[in-house]
Amino acid sequence: MELVNNLAFNTVIAVVIFGASSYLGILAYSQDKKSSANRIFARFSIATAFWILLAFIPDIPNFRNFALLSAKLNYLTLLIVSVTLFEFPFYFPKERKPKKALIYFIYLIAVTIGLLVIFTNKVIFGLDYFGWGASYIDGDMAGIFYIFMLLGPIFSITNYVFMWRTLDKFEKRKLRYFLFGLFSFLAVNIILQSIVKPLFVHTDALYKFGNYSAVFMIGLTSYSIIRYRLFDIRIVAAEVFTFVIWIILFSRLFSSQTSVDLSVNVFVFVLISIFGMLLIKSLKTELSQKEKLLFLNEKLKNLDKQKNEFINMAAHELRAPITAIKGYISMIMEGDAGVIPEKAIGYLTDVNSVNERLIRLVNNMLNVSRIEEGRLIYNTEVVKLSDVAHSIYVSFKFEAERKGLKFSINIPEHIDDKIEVDPDRLNEVIGNFVSNSVKYTETGEISINISQPTKDRIHLGVKDTGPGISKEEQDKLFQKFYRVESTAGKTIGTGLGLYISKLLVEKFNGKIGLKSELGKGSEFWFELPVSDKPLTTEVEHDNNEAQNEVELKTLREKEKATKHK
Ligand code: ADP
Repeated sequence: MELVNNLAFNTVIAVVIFGASSYLGILAYSQDKKSSANRIFARFSIATAFWILLAFIPDIPNFRNFALLSAKLNYLTLLIVSVTLFEFPFYFPKERKPKKALIYFIYLIAVTIGLLVIFTNKVIFGLDYFGWGASYIDGDMAGIFYIFMLLGPIFSITNYVFMWRTLDKFEKRKLRYFLFGLFSFLAVNIILQSIVKPLFVHTDALYKFGNYSAVFMIGLTSYSIIRYRLFDIRIVAAEVFTFVIWIILFSRLFSSQTSVDLSVNVFVFVLISIFGMLLIKSLKTELSQKEKLLFLNEKLKNLDKQKNEFINMAAHELRAPITAIKGYISMIMEGDAGVIPEKAIGYLTDVNSVNERLIRLVNNMLNVSRIEEGRLIYNTEVVKLSDVAHSIYVSFKFEAERKGLKFSINIPEHIDDKIEVDPDRLNEVIGNFVSNSVKYTETGEISINISQPTKDRIHLGVKDTGPGISKEEQDKLFQKFYRVESTAGKTIGTGLGLYISKLLVEKFNGKIGLKSELGKGSEFWFELPVSDKPLTTEVEHDNNEAQNEVELKTLREKEKATKHK
């Protein structure tokens, strides 16, 4: 009790809290001057800082002349604190449009009460002085003031209760600190006012501890506001903490009774000072590393974005010439340039399949960012998997056989293979599988196999007798840009085909995978759910295909026009 009412002790605490609260307020404001949450928090903590200081001044016997004025100003700061609590839910943890009329109404009430406090004795009638300090005598209308003081936190809390469900994880975490601080503050005050005061001490002597507990609220809220920005409040907390310990230890030096006592105190003081400095230094180092990481992360994200833009641009630029090549080849093969020798037809067929591969590659490049960003439009229909697979079989048959590979498709007779997919996209998936098999297999055979493992699932596998893939590489295969080292050097490719295939199959609620052993060939497969809806008959073309077709048609028309000239 001695220490509790010791003037010097309380002066130190009041001044330290005043300094810390104002510092946190200014810090939050200077962190982000434009953020309304930071501004309102700055106001909140500076008002709290003054509240605690002004509440303490009437307790100082030498300041009796200012005691009443100080008490009244103290009530004004409390009004500001309460008004701020009303406004808080509109700005923190996320900014919403404040209800202007409500806020102005609250300001009006606060100003009216404020005028009553300052110019009349209806709220604070006067002060009673005791050994421990001054106690306020309530005026007739003090009740209005108390009710207003209660409404602020109640309004805040009710708002947060209703808002909770609409907040994301990050916002909830921020809010938790503030609410925890607010509840601790309220809890200490309620315990003091309704348990400790009436049952044990019977005076207002302990009111200060209610005030001091505001530190919880300020500290935790500023932590939550500032922590998620670059600056870390942990440093501030460590600094304040160390500073307070220094002051206490330093003041103990003067109360040392004997020389042994003094040496022990000096030793502890020096030790703690060094420890405190080390603590702050290590925190600062950690923080600067964190900042560097954040900066690098930001830079990486930018680079990634630039890379995506480049890929997109390059793919767009490539599409026109390869479509032109496709057009000219088909015109020559159709005899538009006259009769061509048998051998040349063979070469042209090869050029055509390489070109088809390029088109597939460019389409993959264009699609990857569209799929990742959710910009790809899916035209879902109910189709038969065997139909899609068969069209792929036909388009690759020539290329595979020219390479000397045996190529087959196996579709069991009685299967239910209706699936709900975007057929053009599924075409790309099977096309990627078959194109890879033809590309990587030098001798042997390739087969497309459809089977139905269960009534509600349908399975498609593309099996080859190519080089196979080792277990370690299999795990990485469906990652973006991944290419198996041993084959990558020998063929053109981007490592996007399987990645896109996985995204697409998963989009259609399916599973994708492979069975392979080094030297023994591979089987890439996917499984899709069977649809119970009726078949869609109308077939629409996909964007890339459609675009390619349009470009091709224009090319042909241009060609015909020059011929006629
Ligand atoms: P790309 O073929 O453009 O490199 P993919 O994503 O289609 O990209 O394939 C990724 C890698 O997987 C290829 O680079 C290749 O090394 C390996 N791969 C794919 N299919 C087969 C296959 N049938 N046989 C052997 N390796 C394959």
